[in-house]
Amino acid sequence: MQGRQILALEFRNQASDERVMYVSAIIAAGGHGRRLGAGVPKQLLDLAGRPMLRWSIDAFLACDRVSEVVVVVPPEWADAPPACLRVPGVRIVVGGERRQDSVANGFDAVSTRSDVILIHDAARPFVDAAMIGRAIDAAAETGAAIVAVPARDTIKWSPAEMGSAAGGQPRGDRRVIERTLPRESIFLAQTPQAFRRHVLREAVALGRAGVEGTDEAALAEQAGHQVRLVEGSARNIKVTTAEDFAIAKALLEMTNDTRTDASGFRIGSGYDLHRLVEGRPLILGGVTIPFDRGLAGHSDADVLCHAIADAILGGAAAGDIGQLFPDTDDRWRGASSVELLRQAVDLVRARGFRIVNLDATVIAERPKLGAHRASIAASLASVIGVPDSVVSVKAKTNEGEDATGRGEAIAVHAVALLEKA
Ligand code: MG
Repeated sequence: MQGRQILALEFRNQASDERVMYVSAIIAAGGHGRRLGAGVPKQLLDLAGRPMLRWSIDAFLACDRVSEVVVVVPPEWADAPPACLRVPGVRIVVGGERRQDSVANGFDAVSTRSDVILIHDAARPFVDAAMIGRAIDAAAETGAAIVAVPARDTIKWSPAEMGSAAGGQPRGDRRVIERTLPRESIFLAQTPQAFRRHVLREAVALGRAGVEGTDEAALAEQAGHQVRLVEGSARNIKVTTAEDFAIAKALLEMTNDTRTDASGFRIGSGYDLHRLVEGRPLILGGVTIPFDRGLAGHSDADVLCHAIADAILGGAAAGDIGQLFPDTDDRWRGASSVELLRQAVDLVRARGFRIVNLDATVIAERPKLGAHRASIAASLASVIGVPDSVVSVKAKTNEGEDATGRGEAIAVHAVALLEKA
């Protein structure tokens, strides 16, 4: 846990010079929507390699102006949150019965320092920093703002009582139009929605008093606040049906084809060496290898995890494990290197990177590693959260030369390919 805090600190500090306001983001993911896939909650369905919920989380984490991210999850996730929520800088809160109850729980959990609070629906994976920024700016100025898009279709008004001769519930094919609304006055609400803290407090209080709102803006309006409309995006769709999901996938594939400076492939390299000593277990890639000696070091000295973590961090230009887990810090004494590797992976994923593949060469005169290669690769793949097929571990001797060749040390070279979505 401490590692996560350190990473969160490192991650956030980058923005501290520019930050003038404390901005909290509440991502509402408390729903139980299972319409899209067999038994898998909608928020966790895989969308181009990431659970849908992670696209929103990563967008807010990547936005320099957002100071903290609170994700509201279904109560049944409370004890064992899904792996995709183990992200430095993200807090988890349990949701309530209705969406507005979940947002109210999120509101209770945000920092008391919050100036502006953003609410975002986890079913809108295409939110981006520009939209978030517009919502923050407008809310800071006027108290409340939502992103929205102008209606492009002509809007017909057909109240529920129309279309049924008997005056009962209308059937869809029997409804009639009462009038056509002026399209230029119609806007379709999206999220994020942003509020000065006191405005959201009043909206939440109204909701708790029994007023129903389909979004937080509706509650703020009813509390007497003006809500500003800022530019959303046609891409910022809400994924509700299987058709929406197919559209979302297609949109992501299009994005991946358009490589700009901000997207594309990145390569990282890592190297590490540890001395072999008596009285220590030999751990490589999280697997304990039977041998009469083990690697000396501050942590468990898993030289393979260290080199791979450095390759992954290097690909994202996110520093190295020496910076993230300094050996001057007692908290890392005896730390599991598998956990350090996992933290490094979480950090680069939070910055929008996907791990494409990894290749490592272990230089060891002894023990012979051939029989362990597959289990080491499988262990690494499981820690990193990628298929076994993209992790390669090779073993070499050093022909008796140097410290590794004399069997005094084990060294590892690793490369990682990352892709920025
Ligand atoms: Mg090391």
